[in-house]
Amino acid sequence: MKVCFNQATTMKNSTLAMDLVLCEKHGYELIEIRLDKLRDYLKTNTMEDLAAFFAKSRIKPYAFNALEFITFRDEAGYKQIKDDLVFLCEAGEKIGCKKIVVVPTFDIGGYTKTEIKNESVRVLNELADIAEKYGVKLAYEFVGYPNCSVNTFGQTYDIIKAVDRENVGMVLDCFHFHAMGSCLEDLKKADAGKIFIFHIDDSEDLPVGAARDDKRLWPGEGAVDLDGILSALKEIGYSEMVSVELFRPEYWDWDIEKTIQVGKEKTEAVVGKYFEIE
Ligand code: ZN
Repeated sequence: MKVCFNQATTMKNSTLAMDLVLCEKHGYELIEIRLDKLRDYLKTNTMEDLAAFFAKSRIKPYAFNALEFITFRDEAGYKQIKDDLVFLCEAGEKIGCKKIVVVPTFDIGGYTKTEIKNESVRVLNELADIAEKYGVKLAYEFVGYPNCSVNTFGQTYDIIKAVDRENVGMVLDCFHFHAMGSCLEDLKKADAGKIFIFHIDDSEDLPVGAARDDKRLWPGEGAVDLDGILSALKEIGYSEMVSVELFRPEYWDWDIEKTIQVGKEKTEAVVGKYFEIE
């Protein structure tokens, strides 16, 4: 299992340049780059600078985060999603980053699960047609909030299976999995090849539907059944990568290097019980 850093973890005070140097120093194999951090980086640097950094470093880019709220959009909003997708595909070509996280829309009103599935399948197919030309894969990330249109593992997997194409899969995020009570049985039945990205984190112990991203904790320090999730992943043969992704304001205020170092230690301590860390 390769250990990856998701830039959400240091979102408030860090930069892409800083995260890259510190993640390389602390031995991360991979990084997930945030779209907003990439745009900030490009104000004073070029994609060629970024490509040159990766060429001389051990750490490699794994995915971009994220195209948000891709479904049920008006024309202008959907055009922006497609423009951002092309921007990320072209950026990915320069640095060898071939995955993009895509997120369903919140607060859509009274659509049924069937209507949400149909809309998700339609949009994922259209975006996948664009991404395919660049050899890019899309990972649909359900969000474990009651008002997110796609909010459990089972619902997401059902959509991904219906899309049924090689460049569309999903994100498994342990916080989101726990937050809306996703079923381990659904994970145990899944095809590991459809899990493109694995986000690890933990959560304070709140009732189903009550936790928000600021309640995330370091892996192993909260109420999420990480042992259950990790042993299920082992059972289905997933072993690609694990990305530490926190959104906790308290950790944002830590020294950035300490956050990056602790994130890796906490992740390896939990994941290392089930997988060999590369
Ligand atoms: Zn996530």
